[in-house]
Amino acid sequence: MPSAARSLLAGSLADRVVSAPAFPAASTGAPSQPAHSLVARDKGLLWHPYAPLDGPAPYAVLGASGTRLQLEDADGEHFEVVDAMSSWWSAVHGYRNPALDAALTGQAAKFSHVMFGGLTHQPAVELAERLVAMTPEHLDHVFFADSGSVSVEVALKLAVQYQAAAGYPGRSAFLALRGGYHGDTFAAMSVCDPVDGMHAQFPNLVAEQRFLPRPPQARLVDGELRADPTDVAAWVQVLEETVVAHGGELAAIVMEPVLQGAGGMHIYAPECLAAARRVATEHGLLLILDEIATGFGRTGELFASEWAGVVPDIMCVGKAMTGGYLTLAAMLCSSEVAAVVTASPLRALLHGPTFMANPLACAVAVASLDLLESTPWRPQVAALEHGLSKALATAATLPQVRDVRVLGGVGVIALHNPVDVPALTRAAVQRGVWVRPFRDLVYTMPPYISTADDVAAIGAGLCAAIEQVHG
Ligand SMILES: *Cc1c(COP(=O)(O)O)cnc(C)c1O
Repeated sequence: MPSAARSLLAGSLADRVVSAPAFPAASTGAPSQPAHSLVARDKGLLWHPYAPLDGPAPYAVLGASGTRLQLEDADGEHFEVVDAMSSWWSAVHGYRNPALDAALTGQAAKFSHVMFGGLTHQPAVELAERLVAMTPEHLDHVFFADSGSVSVEVALKLAVQYQAAAGYPGRSAFLALRGGYHGDTFAAMSVCDPVDGMHAQFPNLVAEQRFLPRPPQARLVDGELRADPTDVAAWVQVLEETVVAHGGELAAIVMEPVLQGAGGMHIYAPECLAAARRVATEHGLLLILDEIATGFGRTGELFASEWAGVVPDIMCVGKAMTGGYLTLAAMLCSSEVAAVVTASPLRALLHGPTFMANPLACAVAVASLDLLESTPWRPQVAALEHGLSKALATAATLPQVRDVRVLGGVGVIALHNPVDVPALTRAAVQRGVWVRPFRDLVYTMPPYISTADDVAAIGAGLCAAIEQVHG
């Protein structure tokens, strides 16, 4: 199973946000009739992410509110858990937020969807204006896609169209990073880690790209990301040599800024990002930054590229943009890139999904960005960083644990051995925590609204689950 392994979630919940310092017994209910349960009906019927049809039973979500999910297991037992995953980086404001609910129902009362070919609407225009205003300067044009992977496809297409329009039709390949993750569609897969990224399973369909080693690991020290300067210099040298040798065939450098997510939860030196910007500019390559996981504050900066003060030519955002309510992503590009493509004979960017700029998704995204700007996300994420550092300190002392790292609202516990995912998930659920590990990594990115008690409970739950399952 590829590294791209991500986990499933969904959530549900009770009405109040519980903030008990330690969770009471997580089991809260009487069994229903398992044979007729959702979990039983799901079995063999539904594919789940990266899972076999007859894989481990999922949990059914009966409700979700605030940071809590209400789960039912295959035996009909009920659990209330704190969502340590934010539904895969997305539910930053938690579940059933009144402002987001209102934005959704308000737009539904007007119209839920219209085609975007030849038509436009207020939610799309407003969201695009917001994105342009909040992203780094020079990113002035927006393309809405229905998922992160598709926004990456569009970014790659645009880069190739740009190079061709600029007189370099041979520049159609990409330089990406080992350990990267950019989505599950074929072009996005081609720039994912070539070993973990399912390339071998689809040999004729995944384009061959160039790869750089993973940039050297960085650690947060006094609010700064520090890495070994010798390692950084060595990495930058490989970058330069690669671009000198192959620049003529490359359209762009593609990277997740500072934090590689689903490819290994790897925090790397911002200097490497700055070097990529410099080298791309020197050699006529575009820089595409994939902020789908890191965008909207998760790493402690609004966009992770700010750790290096770098502005890409093309940026992808998604996941947290709608607060986890609906699927929507966006690709932003600079006016220079847009101008070159617009001046070409094609003039257009060659993409246009049916549900492009879906009004419900755009409306809820506008409300989500409103919330982000009107609530103190920066102190919230700083509090997560502080809380996770404290809560995961215990994990660092466990013999099963190889490394613990924290950046913003992201906490990672790396074990010496691959995680027994079903067993660890079960052990965490029994302690009131929803988590979805992959490979040797147990990681958390809680909703921004999580209380100190939520974060402490996540830390305690994960440590206890690791000790129980891998002890
Ligand atoms: C999740 C993710 C994607 C893919 O987004 P989907 O909405 O799942 O298609 C792409 N890049 C990064 C960095 C991601 O974390």
